[in-house]
Amino acid sequence: MSKVSSKPLKSKPPQINIALEKYLSILNFAPEPILIADSQIKIVYVNPAWEKLTGYKSREVIGRDPKILQSGKTPRKVFNKLWQSLRNNIPFTTEEVIDKRKDGTYYQIHSTFFPILENDKPLFYIQIQHDISERKIQEQTQRWVQNLVQMSNDAIITVAPKLKITSWNPAAENLYGYRAEDIIGKSLKTLVPKNKAAELKRIYGDIDSKFVNFETERLTKDGRLINVSITISHLLDGDNKIIGYSVIHRDITTQKKLSELKNEFLSVAAHELKTPITTLKLMSQAHIARIKRYGSDQLKLDELELIDRELERLTQLINDILDDTRVESGKLFLKLEQTNLNKLLVTVIKKMALLTRKQKIVFIKPDKKIAVIIDQQRIEQVLVNLLSNAIKYSEPKSRIEVGAGIEKSKALVWISDQGQGIPESQRTKIFDRYYQLREKNSRGFGLGLYITKQIIDQHKGKIWVESRKGKGSVFFFTLPLKK
Ligand code: ADP
Repeated sequence: MSKVSSKPLKSKPPQINIALEKYLSILNFAPEPILIADSQIKIVYVNPAWEKLTGYKSREVIGRDPKILQSGKTPRKVFNKLWQSLRNNIPFTTEEVIDKRKDGTYYQIHSTFFPILENDKPLFYIQIQHDISERKIQEQTQRWVQNLVQMSNDAIITVAPKLKITSWNPAAENLYGYRAEDIIGKSLKTLVPKNKAAELKRIYGDIDSKFVNFETERLTKDGRLINVSITISHLLDGDNKIIGYSVIHRDITTQKKLSELKNEFLSVAAHELKTPITTLKLMSQAHIARIKRYGSDQLKLDELELIDRELERLTQLINDILDDTRVESGKLFLKLEQTNLNKLLVTVIKKMALLTRKQKIVFIKPDKKIAVIIDQQRIEQVLVNLLSNAIKYSEPKSRIEVGAGIEKSKALVWISDQGQGIPESQRTKIFDRYYQLREKNSRGFGLGLYITKQIIDQHKGKIWVESRKGKGSVFFFTLPLKK
């Protein structure tokens, strides 16, 4: 409108006459903001809806140029088109115009202009505004929500009241394996395993509660059962009538599995810790009893050795638990220093050889010295873990070898045993938290290799195992070389 004023029409400014005023009183009740300007583009009338939209009172604007609403934010071409049309005395609806209220805030409108003609000359211009700010916000919000739904990691599904699927986001595609075009229109029952069928009736039948959250199982396209946490809320129309449900599915399979493993771990841990403690307690009780009876007692060497072994085992178990919590809270820090790898290997092998009289540990000495940048204590721990496993999972009199070399600008260490080997399907899993292959056989927590891998990862190295069933396993890991 403001642009119109910059090109004044040349007719004489007419006044609103009494007859017209009568019609104007009708406009006072119109819900749309309406402005009337004379042929000189001076405001002669605004209705209450216009006052409400702009914040100006009628008396403040009568006689003024509608330019006062100009925000400077509307593209020039919008006004050019308007002006062209009005010059030809043709009604015109503008594209989006951004105007400014009295308080300086902006609003967006479409306006329709009607020229009122007399003898083919414009007498008045009536401008009816359609405030679109709110619609605009709604559109933006809708776009924003759509984006959120598209990007969400949770499966977000909407269903009609009779549970026909009406929308299906990419996360739902990932979780269930159905593509949107294949599942939209089908029933939500497609995802429900037979033994949970009653659940649908119970939950969706309960229309009183506006929001439901529960954990259950669902079925993927390829027939897998997955654990999900489901949140259902009503979709309501303007009259609060239920027009469907939004259903959010979060995959909690891993979470569930981990919490089961953790529980299992706690019971194993308690049991494992109790065993050495029981031995120590029995020994101390026997010792006390002997002192009471004979006045004195002497601990024999083999008893002391047993105490030492049990204490060592306790310490090891407790250290594993501590390291596990360190890894979990991201607090496994390294103290990196330059180290002679050959020397470190020899030291650890000597130490471990003292602990096993059963197997022979052989060091395959590299041709030259290998200097690495590592946390010595942590890598010693890795070697101890791998060697303990090699001892634990192979037969007496078999041979364990340790070797090192340089490969692809990294130091490579390997430890081989002639034990039972590890089936191919388990070779990556053994590095998982709490994972144990042969529960009866092993006396740890399934934490050793997990922590080992975390330490190697921290060194930006890799760890893997090669194995042949019944022929033994070779564990490899890499470490950063000194540059
Ligand atoms: P654990 O405390 O059970 O020893 P680890 O994390 O050290 O836990 O090892 C995980 C599993 O990997 C073990 O339960 C064992 O079955 C298998 N494993 C580890 N090292 C070897 C090996 N050298 N030979 C055969 N199996 C092994």
